Amino acid sequence: MSSRRPIIDQAEVIVIGLGGVGAFALRALSQIGVDALGLERFAPGHDRGSSHGGTRVFRHAYFEHPDYVPLLRFSSDDFGHLEASRGTALLQRCGCLLLGPHDGAMIEGAADAASQHGLAVERLGVEMLRRRYPQFALPRGWAGLHEADAGFVRPEAAIRAALDEAVDRGARLRIEQSAAAWRETEGGVEVETAAGLLRCDRLVVAAGAWTGALLPALRAQLRVTRQIQTWVEADDPESIDCRDLPAWVLAREEGPALYGIPADPLAPGKPRMKLGLHGRDDPVDPDRVPRSVGRAELEELESLRARWLPRLSGPIRAAKVCLYTSSPDAQLIVDRLPGSRRVVLGAGLSGHGFKLCPALGRILAELAIRGRSPLPADFLGLSRFG
Ligand SMILES: Cc1cc2nc3c(=O)[nH]c(=O)nc-3n(C[C@H](O)[C@H](O)[C@H](O)COP(=O)(O)OP(=O)(O)OC[C@H]3O[C@@H](n4cnc5c(N)ncnc54)[C@H](O)[C@@H]3O)c2cc1C
Repeated sequence: MSSRRPIIDQAEVIVIGLGGVGAFALRALSQIGVDALGLERFAPGHDRGSSHGGTRVFRHAYFEHPDYVPLLRFSSDDFGHLEASRGTALLQRCGCLLLGPHDGAMIEGAADAASQHGLAVERLGVEMLRRRYPQFALPRGWAGLHEADAGFVRPEAAIRAALDEAVDRGARLRIEQSAAAWRETEGGVEVETAAGLLRCDRLVVAAGAWTGALLPALRAQLRVTRQIQTWVEADDPESIDCRDLPAWVLAREEGPALYGIPADPLAPGKPRMKLGLHGRDDPVDPDRVPRSVGRAELEELESLRARWLPRLSGPIRAAKVCLYTSSPDAQLIVDRLPGSRRVVLGAGLSGHGFKLCPALGRILAELAIRGRSPLPADFLGLSRFG
């Protein structure tokens, strides 16, 4: 990268990538009053990364690790602030139901997080589940954990709202401009784009599935996989209405969890439930992703729907590919880049991180500007990998 090219723009902080993490980081920087510039290779809300598809499950009783709960509380409040300030609906609090063997890791982990942090959840036996949620066919010995203060968030709308607020507070956007490379100089960081060099004091890397291309030292830690989200119609639309059906995650013993999100009342057209598998193991290069969904992939989901939600008869009407970027322990990464005083990163959201974007954005802004954040996120640091 040649430093002889002219500097065409500069800012105190540059954020590379304006998906879920980057949009909230830019907004948090603008709230702190920092001169911030966001760079996005596609258009915000695009469908080639990890933040598209209309809905994402939102829950606090976190079986993945109880220490997420304070970050989830922050995120829940902050989505609320953003809704209020932009006059847009981002969270649908229709509840979330976890389903699995009564002593399995998901139910036990979520119950543990709830009791450690005083979250209101209801544990349900299989008979009660069958009465309340006749959509599911559940084996004996299973249990459910219902959290009323949960539901789903609308990712594209949240990204749009966060960027609008950031711009209103003075942040600048460079859309459809890719960061080809960056380097730390004595006085700052230079970012190379096709249009010319950009300069900043601090750099936030929030490049999702493309993080490894910008931070080669992390490439081995980040596994990009191709995931499929589908939308199912129901012969009885009430059975997928968010007044009758919460967002749900079902921990199958024989493979990745199956999850669903009820029909979004704000989505146009006929009601459709989202249905997907959490964590198909299909590694891909993010620049060469097969974007169409094959017949066998749809049949797999059809047969899982027939097995677990037999009453919900109706066709899969749409399917879309999306990317997970997973860390070795499937927990998020938010930290300073080792060996650098100026670069911070949010990456490896491992298929469950959209709900945490407000907290991640705030942490990244504070790490970039102040070197530390009061939000408790040390457990998501890179040092855990040794
Ligand atoms: C099918 C599916 C279901 C999911 N379900 C849930 C769920 O229910 N609940 C939940 O909380 N989470 C869920 N997730 C996870 C969550 O949506 C993602 O982890 C999160 O959206 C990732 O955000 P990100 O900002 O890291 O990546 P992205 O949103 O992909 O953003 C990265 C951005 O960086 C840009 N970029 C990359 N390189 C460059 C460059 N060199 N220059 C400029 N721009 C660049 C990209 O274009 C992209 O816009 C799901 C994910 C998928 C795929």
